[in-house]
Amino acid sequence: MINISKPLIGGEEIDEVEKVLSSGKIAQGPVVAEFEKDFAEFCGVKYAIAVNSGTAALHCALYACGIKKGDEVVTTPFTFVATANAILMQGARPVFVDVNEIDFNIDADKIEEKLTGDTKAILPVDLYGQIYNVDGIGEIAHRKNLRIVEDACQSHGAEYKGKRAGIFGSAGCFSFYATKNMTTGEGGMVVTDDENIADSVKRFRHHGQSEKTHYEYYDLGFNYRMTDIEAAMGIEQLKKLKGFNEIRQKNARALSEGLAGIKGIKVPSVKDGFSHVFHQYTIRVTDQFKIKRDELSQYLTGRGIGNAVFYPKPLHLHPHFMRLGYKDGDFPISEKISKEVLSLPVNPSVSEQDIKYIVDTIKGI
Ligand SMILES: *Cc1c(COP(=O)(O)O)cnc(C)c1O
Repeated sequence: MINISKPLIGGEEIDEVEKVLSSGKIAQGPVVAEFEKDFAEFCGVKYAIAVNSGTAALHCALYACGIKKGDEVVTTPFTFVATANAILMQGARPVFVDVNEIDFNIDADKIEEKLTGDTKAILPVDLYGQIYNVDGIGEIAHRKNLRIVEDACQSHGAEYKGKRAGIFGSAGCFSFYATKNMTTGEGGMVVTDDENIADSVKRFRHHGQSEKTHYEYYDLGFNYRMTDIEAAMGIEQLKKLKGFNEIRQKNARALSEGLAGIKGIKVPSVKDGFSHVFHQYTIRVTDQFKIKRDELSQYLTGRGIGNAVFYPKPLHLHPHFMRLGYKDGDFPISEKISKEVLSLPVNPSVSEQDIKYIVDTIKGI
């Protein structure tokens, strides 16, 4: 089976985790601090605060940006559920805006019509590993005095004009879940240049307690701490991230060259000025193709080619969000592409021969 995702853990991770295990200090400690320092440096920001998931990172960032009950946060319906759930966790309302057909990210041109007096922030997602429309959304946020919280859970190391994902708003949020471009099993990170946001995230991950004054609780907080065990993995994975991403990009180029020109298959586009890190390599299977998307998916599975649909249903069509008043037809592009997208194996364990086999199998149809 050619896997759609596969964590690549080497002797380096195992050795460093073993050191932590034998040290007797396994909860949040010096190794988390070292990982934070490395990650901040990698992103080119002043502060990185480790937490125990990407979801926790989003929750912390929204809290630290002052998002609270009654506020509205603009986001995309074509994303993983955690993006919008984090908004609900703060008692705020997710206001969905449809995506564009180029990178499947939130469409800057459709945001302004959705803004109200209660809108406090925009939460764009770097879907599949390509950064959102930084200039378009940045301009709106600046003019309307809105925060931007970037969901960079799929875009570790992606770039726009030479700057890395996560740094384009007030705060950026990463996940180190097992399937992501780098992993700690479960884990997350908030990055920011704003000292107040950094302090606020630190308090929120630890029951509202400041690191400066122990056992003084300033506000509600959670237990969102990362362990030194996870951080030890993270430090080694971060060293390998650039190499991992380069293989993803090479695999993506080979897939796109191989699949170009097949009627009914649209390969992903990389925007000018952006470097895409292909967390997912996602094609669109349109009506023009010989068989339906779901038939292609089964056909590939039957031939040992892992594949997956991210995401089969936009968020606004799940009962959880329909209860907020959303309905079928609200976001036609998200609804259309959710029926067409199919992600193919692109991760660093996928070889040149694997790519050739995937291309030949699809061409064969
Ligand atoms: C993975 C992911 C998350 C959540 O990360 P977890 O670590 O699983 O909590 C949030 N948003 C997006 C876009 C993701 O892909």
